[in-house]
Amino acid sequence: MIELDREQEMMLAAVREIVDREVRPQAAQIDEEQRFPWETVRVFADNGILTPLLPQQYGGVGVNYLLFCMILEEIAKACASSALLLIAQADGMLPILCGGSEALKEAHLPGLAKGNLAAFAATEPDAGSDVLSMKTRAVRDGGRYLINGRKCFITNGSVADVLTVYAYTDPDKGPRGISAFVVTKGSPGLSYGKNENKMGMRGSVNSELIFEDLSVPVENRIGEEGEGVANMMAALDTSRLFAAAQAVGLAQGAIDEAVTYAGARVQFGKPIARTQAIQFMLADMVAATEAARLLTYQAARYLDRGKGPQARKFCAMAKFTASDTAMKVTTDAVQVLGGYGYMKDFPVERMMRDAKLIQIYTGTNQIMRMVTAREIFRE
Ligand SMILES: Cc1cc2nc3c(=O)[nH]c(=O)nc-3n(C[C@H](O)[C@H](O)[C@H](O)COP(=O)(O)OP(=O)(O)OC[C@H]3O[C@@H](n4cnc5c(N)ncnc54)[C@H](O)[C@@H]3O)c2cc1C
Repeated sequence: MIELDREQEMMLAAVREIVDREVRPQAAQIDEEQRFPWETVRVFADNGILTPLLPQQYGGVGVNYLLFCMILEEIAKACASSALLLIAQADGMLPILCGGSEALKEAHLPGLAKGNLAAFAATEPDAGSDVLSMKTRAVRDGGRYLINGRKCFITNGSVADVLTVYAYTDPDKGPRGISAFVVTKGSPGLSYGKNENKMGMRGSVNSELIFEDLSVPVENRIGEEGEGVANMMAALDTSRLFAAAQAVGLAQGAIDEAVTYAGARVQFGKPIARTQAIQFMLADMVAATEAARLLTYQAARYLDRGKGPQARKFCAMAKFTASDTAMKVTTDAVQVLGGYGYMKDFPVERMMRDAKLIQIYTGTNQIMRMVTAREIFRE
């Protein structure tokens, strides 16, 4: 469907091999134990896929958005939590890459290819969909800023070496008063609240971050004061694309399980795959997933051509379409497996729990429809 060059084909083949060897075998276990997969971080870093979007000049591979989506899909087919690790890494990295000074990039980006982890911290206990109502404040004090506030649900939060943090530097200016900062692990004034106990994506860490007179040098500001909201919105657009790719992979993984099972499971003297009820269900699952995949690739193409209103609209549409599809497809996959689908011996129940998050995070699907409608009526 998509023409890839030889190098891109080889990269995807290598990802598939790593997924089969290292990711798939432990997907159920990290979910059951709600354990962060440090060994996967190492494997991804050693094979150049921990931060594939990072340009070569900073030690990355420099893949485009489309190829990154395909990489996420391959990983999410087996383990959506492991794909989320790469998404959080990209979400934390891109604001620095796109808006940071050369010194900030040199200081923090090369480590992200080698095994350091990143996170993107915008959400607060009282500021979710309405993220601009955040209460975190950064007050300039000579050559430093003192940051006070609290972030929640942050993916990779307590394991990240580099955090991209959003805070108001001038609340009187409204959204134009938000600025972005790089905060590093171990900074005085940074502490961690609880790691969340979640329904799904349990092989991923989500943490509360607490800032109490957290002192960061002025040089750690990403861009100028007041540029934080544009930086954050750009990061959210790309994050929505990544979530869409994760959802497509998850749906495909569930389809693969359901097809295999339906061919093997015999009831009434024949495989259930030969019943029209199962065939029609699978036909709908495959058609919806292919449609979501095309929309996701189209959004990636727009982003590869440059950010803008069209890319924003397509990223939002891909995000809600792909995650609603993943929710339905994984639920139907459980149905195809019947009682066994409900048991932890098969991966489809985990996939169904994982899919639910993608309808919620990086902008809920209600907010995604609002973003889409806003762009439609702006046109
Ligand atoms: C596992 C997980 C990982 C996350 N990772 C990160 C991360 O790495 N970094 C980060 O910054 N954040 C992260 N988040 C936060 C996530 O983006 C927010 O949870 C999400 O944006 C929704 O905010 P909320 O949970 O406060 O829900 P709310 O905003 O309180 O929404 C509750 C409900 O109301 C609906 N709603 C709200 N406002 C409107 C409206 N105007 N119109 C229609 N419906 C509306 C929502 O769609 C939703 O159904 C994560 C969340 C989770 C659960």
